Amino acid sequence: MTDLHIPETLDEACYLLSDLDDAQVYGGGTAIQILRKQGVLFTEDLVDIGRIPGLDVLEVTPLGVRVGAMVSIRRMETDPGVRQVVPLAALAYGRVASPRVRNTARVGGNIAHGDYRLDPPTALLALDATVETRSARGSRAIRVRDFFTDFQQTALEPDEMVTALVIPAQPLPGACRYVKMSSLRESDWPSASAAALVTEEGGRRRLELGLGALAPIPVHLSLDVTGLSPQAAGSAARDAAEPHLDPIPDIRGSSDYKLRLGRVAVYEAVTGACEELNHA
Ligand SMILES: Cc1cc2nc3c(=O)[nH]c(=O)nc-3n(C[C@H](O)[C@H](O)[C@H](O)COP(=O)(O)OP(=O)(O)OC[C@H]3O[C@@H](n4cnc5c(N)ncnc54)[C@H](O)[C@@H]3O)c2cc1C
Repeated sequence: MTDLHIPETLDEACYLLSDLDDAQVYGGGTAIQILRKQGVLFTEDLVDIGRIPGLDVLEVTPLGVRVGAMVSIRRMETDPGVRQVVPLAALAYGRVASPRVRNTARVGGNIAHGDYRLDPPTALLALDATVETRSARGSRAIRVRDFFTDFQQTALEPDEMVTALVIPAQPLPGACRYVKMSSLRESDWPSASAAALVTEEGGRRRLELGLGALAPIPVHLSLDVTGLSPQAAGSAARDAAEPHLDPIPDIRGSSDYKLRLGRVAVYEAVTGACEELNHA
C-alpha cells in the first residue's frame, strides 16, 4: 500500500519529506509509475507537489529563464520565450520521449530522475544552469555541472526537492545544435547525445558541450575553438571528448557501437553549430 500525500504549501511538502521515512516526491509520475510497475520502487509514501502554488511558473527575461519544477517538458519545448532566450534548452526538452510523455513529465522530475541518458541535462550543462532546491533545512542552489554525482545519483538529499531551474540566457553572438541518436526508434532514449553551444566574445570562440548516454553520468566539456574551421572544431571536440566516453552496453547497443555513435554525435553537433555561427 502506498499513501499519497498532497501538500498545499512548500513548507508542508518539506515537512512531509523530512518526517516520513523514505518518502518520494511525485512530479509528473511518468518515471515513478513505470518503476512501480517494474516492482523496483518500494516507497510507502509519495508526496504529490502538483498543488503547491508557484511551482508551475515559467519566467522569461532577457537575462534568462527561471522555470518552476512543475512546468511541463512540453512547455519548455514550445514556449516562444524559452525558444528565443535559451534555444538549446528548447531543442533538448523537445527530444524527450514522445509528446505524450512530454505533456505529463515535469522539469523537476526530469532532472531529479538522475538518469545518465536524459536529454535536457546535456543542454543545461552547456548553458551552465542551476538547480534550486528546498528542504526543511533551507534552500540550496546547485550548478547542474555539480548535480550528477554518480551512476543514477544526484546531489539531492533524500529530504530535498527541486523547486526550480535557472538557465542563463544563451550568449550572443552564438549558435547551438542538439544531436540525439536513438537505436530503436526516434522517441526512445538516446544511445548517444550531444548538445553544442558555440559563442564569440572578444575575438575568441568558445564551445560548451554537454554529452548524454555516453558515460555513467552526463559529461560537460569546455573548449577554445578560436580560428578553427567547423570541421576542425568538430574533430577537436571529438578528440577532447574521447577520454570521457565510457558508454554502458544494453539492449540499445554495445559499448563500442555507442562509442561510435557518440563520436558522430559530437562531430555533427559541433560542426553544425560552428557553421551556423559562421553564417549568422
Ligand atoms: C516511455 C518513456 C520514454 C522516455 N524517454 C526519455 C528520453 O528519450 N529522454 C529523456 O530525457 N527522458 C526520457 N524519459 C524519462 C522522462 O524524461 C522522465 O520519466 C520524466 O522526465 C520524469 O519526470 P516526472 O515529472 O514524470 O517525474 P516523476 O516520475 O514524478 O519522478 C521521477 C523521479 O524524480 C523524483 N522527483 C520528481 N519531482 C521531483 C522534485 N521536484 N524534486 C525532487 N525529486 C523529484 C521522484 O521522486 C522520482 O524519483 C522517458 C520516460 C518514459 C516513461
